[in-house]
Amino acid sequence: MQNPSTNQVSGSTSDGSQVTRDWHEQVMTPNYAPMSMLPSHGSGSRLWDTDGRDYLDFAGGIAVSALGHAHPALVSALMEQARKFWHVSNVLTSQPALALARRLCDMTFAEKVFLANSGSEANEAALKLARRYAVNTADEDKHEILAFDNAFHGRTLFTVSAGGQPAYSSGFGPKPGGISHVPYNDPDAVRSWFSDIGERACAVIVEPCQGEGGVTPATTEFIRTLRDCCDRHNALLVFDEIQTGVGRSGYLYTYEKLGVVPDILTTAKALGCGFPVSAMLTTDEVGRHLVVGAHGSTFGGNPMACAVACKALDLINTEELLGNVKARSRQIVDGIHGINRRHDVFRDVRGTGLLLGCELNDRHSGRARDLLTACTDIGLLALVAGSSVLRLAPPLNISESETREGLDLLDRSVGRFLERDES
Ligand SMILES: *Cc1c(COP(=O)(O)O)cnc(C)c1O
Repeated sequence: MQNPSTNQVSGSTSDGSQVTRDWHEQVMTPNYAPMSMLPSHGSGSRLWDTDGRDYLDFAGGIAVSALGHAHPALVSALMEQARKFWHVSNVLTSQPALALARRLCDMTFAEKVFLANSGSEANEAALKLARRYAVNTADEDKHEILAFDNAFHGRTLFTVSAGGQPAYSSGFGPKPGGISHVPYNDPDAVRSWFSDIGERACAVIVEPCQGEGGVTPATTEFIRTLRDCCDRHNALLVFDEIQTGVGRSGYLYTYEKLGVVPDILTTAKALGCGFPVSAMLTTDEVGRHLVVGAHGSTFGGNPMACAVACKALDLINTEELLGNVKARSRQIVDGIHGINRRHDVFRDVRGTGLLLGCELNDRHSGRARDLLTACTDIGLLALVAGSSVLRLAPPLNISESETREGLDLLDRSVGRFLERDES
């Protein structure tokens, strides 16, 4: 056993000022490969590192920081609740949790809400509820779940198995059964799965725009086919809007844009603008099957998380903010086409609202991480989605001039990437 006195960490201070980036390799499990910059603080669309350099943030913590960093109204909402009480568990309910659920019902199709902490947990709840609903209204045989190639639904064993990237779900022993995958945006494949499975179909889980899988929007025909097949076979349609929700698409939720209403919708990422919170939304008819004891979470409905999420929804669900998402989206897409005319690097620019993907052309395929590194070096934070897509998810309230600045930085980043790639 280690001598407790050797557990003293030399050089650590309560404010972390002595902590350096190289600690990552020393004390963290190696499942992430963070960039070399170490953030110090942020404000709006900008983030500073511990060396005092500033970056324009087009990554938004993976489509999470929807109102940028340190938004004053969100800080106030958090501090106000932090001074009252932090936690009561679900042995008690709380005003912030009830207010958040009420808002989500008022703003969407939902009649019932389950609160959790992360996207994975919201999807885990959605899939368990779909199974429970089928068992209660039909029988145990009705358990087959349809999901899609390249989908991403989280990292718990059930949700990672629903995801369509076997590399993420393999190597952990037996997987939960009763999950099939067919190609995304392929209505024929969906119809043929339903005709094989018949009444054993329990649910379909789908992202209205695949995020991690490469920023691929669903076609309206595909989504309508899902709704139609689910209706014919008494299966539930689950929209995973964890990345596309809370204004990201220019609509509060993307189902509004698609004109197809799901039975269950999951939302997380931007819901707390960086404070961990997630929710599963559903109808009364489906939701009532989640009876006392059937599911739960210690931290789900955390009062601070819910207070922040209420404020975030009030700030995001406005015509002005959602209009800004659409306008900045057009500005970025136009700007990227301009960059592409000069440099010819992308074969496709796609996405929805302020979730955009730039797919590298064949000459540079597989090099998205190198382009990302060039962006960081120039002072622009971005993301990748797979090995060939640069993904952008700036704050939804980003200004026109900040957007222009970001496009300028991207132009220079692409230039630097090409210099390095061709040398
Ligand atoms: C990020 C994400 C998840 C997982 O959310 P976590 O909070 O990381 O558990 C699930 N589905 C989609 C579409 C996501 O983008």
